[in-house]
Amino acid sequence: MISIKITNAYILTMNETFQIIEHGCICIENNIITYIGDELAVSHLEAHTVIDAQGNLVMPGLINGHTHAAMSIYKGMADDMPLKEWLEHHIFPTESEFCTKENVETGARLGIMEMIMSGTTCFADMYYFTPTIAEVCKQMGIRALLGQAVLDFKAPDFDTPVQAIEATKELINSTVQNSCVQIIPAPHSPYTCNAGILQQCRKLANEYNVPLHIHVSETIVEYNTSLATHNLTPVQYLNSLGMFDGKTIAAHCVYISDEDRNILAEKRVHVVNNPQSNMKLVSGISPVPLLLQANIPVCLGTDSSVSNNSLDMFQEMKVAALIHKLNQSDASVLPARDIVYMCTRGAAKVLGIDNKVGSIEVGKQADIILVNINQPHLVPLYSIYSHIVYAMQGHDVDTVIINGVIVYLQKQFQLVDPLETMIDAQMIANAIMLRKSEREQQQ
Ligand SMILES: [Zn+2]
Repeated sequence: MISIKITNAYILTMNETFQIIEHGCICIENNIITYIGDELAVSHLEAHTVIDAQGNLVMPGLINGHTHAAMSIYKGMADDMPLKEWLEHHIFPTESEFCTKENVETGARLGIMEMIMSGTTCFADMYYFTPTIAEVCKQMGIRALLGQAVLDFKAPDFDTPVQAIEATKELINSTVQNSCVQIIPAPHSPYTCNAGILQQCRKLANEYNVPLHIHVSETIVEYNTSLATHNLTPVQYLNSLGMFDGKTIAAHCVYISDEDRNILAEKRVHVVNNPQSNMKLVSGISPVPLLLQANIPVCLGTDSSVSNNSLDMFQEMKVAALIHKLNQSDASVLPARDIVYMCTRGAAKVLGIDNKVGSIEVGKQADIILVNINQPHLVPLYSIYSHIVYAMQGHDVDTVIINGVIVYLQKQFQLVDPLETMIDAQMIANAIMLRKSEREQQQ
């Protein structure tokens, strides 16, 4: 008996030939896709669970290449201000008081729920208390690359960067991980970590052959300060330290000179574009079409819920498609299929897991979503790629399978109850608002 059989499936495989199969069937045994094709050929096989996909699109789960999931508890707390003010006057002070292990657990739960229900099956994170987040990921069944944040100054979980690096090393070796959850070093940025700390993170990542997750050249302030301090752009500075000599996931890359682009291509740096966050904080527009032309793998990310304020990758896809067209004054830039690739197989490549996930293919691990396309806003159907990017929304997702486990079925969470987490999140927000008004009264 096999584990899951998905029947009557309209399958977007996202394989090498971008094959689409109408009226197909998918078989999953344990966590692996073992069959894709005509249903009759496997009619003799019984399955523990049969999912009738009639009226749904069956596609690979979406991958969010850069986020800070636990910051979901702060969404809507500080809007409509530039990054420096946002970070220094709101995010860092609130985190210094409220970023406890318990609150991170609630925030991670909330963020992961939002991701799952909008079709995200894997995310690359950067935050504090990664063992706690790893446990939440395991309980909720989501796949993740969890970056343990490292900063020069005292962080919520570690007093010094050296402690954070030592702990990351222990975590990479520990059982807080499983086949779906991997912990990696995440030095926050070239401007919040000194050269020695950056290099220690690089050394650790290389020692275990895991990627390093870092913010790179997000704002013009960062770019100009780097030029003034080091006489090098952020990319050139990081390269001069040997930071790209190993697998690197570089979030943002908004300000990229021609020479920077050559460095990123030559060093095979992988880039995550976060268009909505870059728009909301007015950071700028990453030259994504030029990066892609230089054969630099680029995927999309939401960044945190505070700078977005959503973790819905369908929204991110639409904005990415539109902003780069507008920025290049060329409507043919980043066509819909390229955008879908950037959130599925292309994103798996960026995170270094394309041998496992990113497409619906025999032998791959089953990260699959069903999206209800039998709705007025998705009818009629000319091009499924067009619908995914320009018309679909996260709440069209009906069912989510991650690593062969049904975590969300017909819009119901299977492993967790969202109500308790929502109550906890509102209580944290109430405490933050109270503290904020106390601070304002004291001033
Ligand atoms: Zn970020």
